[in-house]
Amino acid sequence: MEKVILLKPYFSHTIWGGKRLREEFGYNEPGDDIGECWGISAHPSGESVAASGEYKGFSLSELWDEHRELFGGMEGDRFPLLVKIIDANKDLSIQVHPDDAYASEHENGSLGKKECWYVLDCPEEGELVAGHNAGSRDELVRMIDEGEWDKLIRRVKIKPGDAIQIDPGTVHAITAGVCVLETQQSSDITYRLYDYGRLENGKPRPLHLSQSKDVIAVPSASAEDMIVHGGDISSAGVAKLIVSDKYTVSRVKVSGNLSFETDAGFINASVISGEGRIFDTGVRKGCHALITAEGAGKVELSGDMELIVSWV
Ligand code: ZN
Repeated sequence: MEKVILLKPYFSHTIWGGKRLREEFGYNEPGDDIGECWGISAHPSGESVAASGEYKGFSLSELWDEHRELFGGMEGDRFPLLVKIIDANKDLSIQVHPDDAYASEHENGSLGKKECWYVLDCPEEGELVAGHNAGSRDELVRMIDEGEWDKLIRRVKIKPGDAIQIDPGTVHAITAGVCVLETQQSSDITYRLYDYGRLENGKPRPLHLSQSKDVIAVPSASAEDMIVHGGDISSAGVAKLIVSDKYTVSRVKVSGNLSFETDAGFINASVISGEGRIFDTGVRKGCHALITAEGAGKVELSGDMELIVSWV
């Protein structure tokens, strides 16, 4: 069995996208409105496809459905995670996602969306929207109905290397100039709470106020509980960033040779800087790969690069 399958991403074009994914990550994607690179995705809204080896041309969902041995025989009716790089050239809408129970009932059996961000780049004094300031549900609803967005939304300071966990029910938004790698449940359910009054093709994009009021958690978790500051990103090794019931996300810095062991059935690996090898497969910044069950027990890396890896 192959240990590494390189994946060809899917790209989404958005009103807030830009050119950075092409210019800084080397993706051969036209347009100046590239918002997201779905590097590791089996979601029907945008699938990644095997780009190397004996499975070349298979979509990730086909691999999951037909070659479950690649994933250590894991159970589940769909590949559980989705890894994206998001370039916010402008502010993204203020939004919230449902949990599994709400999505299953109201969104045709979809998964909910728990997500986390790893900050790849941001302006000096960078900020993200994460959480809100309402003390009760009544106050939340009043502030939404009266459009008191500046009072309602909470902004948190960020730096490159920070990781932020966004639980379902958390009001959040990526702000202009910020580039993140997002690891999330394989779901595309977003309730848009506020879009800064912007227009797309002459019309406002739809809002989902009643669903948002249903799912927003009150009060918000504290900002300190949501952020893991990156610490020393100069030393080689594996730094665990986020551990949750849906995923474990780590940053791996390679300088020379490095190996690490896991008990995962498969590993998502995205190269965020430099170049090197995953086992024998050459990779560089912008590459996304599935490390199969054959390789996930003991991953061997070499070169001079940084990766974000995740598993269930
Ligand atoms: Zn989100």
